[in-house]
Amino acid sequence: MTATSEYNCYFEGQIRPLREARVGVMTHAFNYGTGCFEGIRAYWNADERALYVFRLREHMQRLQRSARTLLIELDSSVDALCRLALDVLAANDFSSDVYLRPLAYKATEVVGVRLHDLRDELTIYAVPLGDYITTGGLHVGVSSWRRIDDNAAPARAKITGTYVNSALAKTEAHLNGYDEAIMLTDDGHVSEGSAENLFMFVGSEIITPPPSDNILLGITRDTIMTLARAELGLTVVERSIDRSELYGAEELLLCGTGAQIAPVLSVDRRPVGAGEIGPHAARLQQLYDAIVRGRDARYQHWLTAVVTSPAAT
Ligand code: PMP
Repeated sequence: MTATSEYNCYFEGQIRPLREARVGVMTHAFNYGTGCFEGIRAYWNADERALYVFRLREHMQRLQRSARTLLIELDSSVDALCRLALDVLAANDFSSDVYLRPLAYKATEVVGVRLHDLRDELTIYAVPLGDYITTGGLHVGVSSWRRIDDNAAPARAKITGTYVNSALAKTEAHLNGYDEAIMLTDDGHVSEGSAENLFMFVGSEIITPPPSDNILLGITRDTIMTLARAELGLTVVERSIDRSELYGAEELLLCGTGAQIAPVLSVDRRPVGAGEIGPHAARLQQLYDAIVRGRDARYQHWLTAVVTSPAAT
């Protein structure tokens, strides 16, 4: 097993060992949370000995949108960002599932809260990653922490500093004996988990909070909406959800790049449906696993194969 520090990353314009990628304590983003990032997964297909990145382009497009909000100038186009990410993966010879983390940040070492007149940097690192949270059934609690509001700190941008909101909710959930938190908006509607979007199944509908309920517009969320329509024949509804609707749902799941598809078995100690993984969630998990590992030809347009050096194969 390789020590994390032995991996290669992109940092200050070069591919170099992760152990050499260091920032000073006065770095603006370290002090004020002025960075934005992505979480991307690449999946290892052992039969083909191939690594596939899932929806790379969409992640880099979102990184660019987040950067615009923070007035971070990314010199690279979406295509160039994708190429850089692939270079990092190719420089590591992974033969496992991998998590890829591009991070664009205010790099100047200076005291002063602002976004302007600061130097921007981009780094991309990659590390092996298995399950982020269990996909075998979650017990969740509604958080006492509200989801950040768009007019305070926009949730639709993936900003490092705003993850304090997620961390508060996640640790409160953990301390209260839950696996994960569900946050409500300031006006009391269901928003999302600490790092996951939420879907509720009722009859022939799959229901999820709209972008205006302070969610991150998840790429897994978009994937599930596509699959629910095309493969499960469900009607996708984006609308505000009340907390107590969660208690009556037939099925519930959280989803995200890290979380993947994580069925929820109980909310606030009330079982969801039969308290087991339901048929829709099970089917989506099956489909998702086949798609991300390149075993479903119909969705290959969502994958980018990593070309590794001959020594790695
Ligand atoms: N909401 C939040 C707050 C997240 O951090 C994430 C993970 N990026 C998601 C939702 C899911 O987004 P995605 O499916 O694009 O990973």
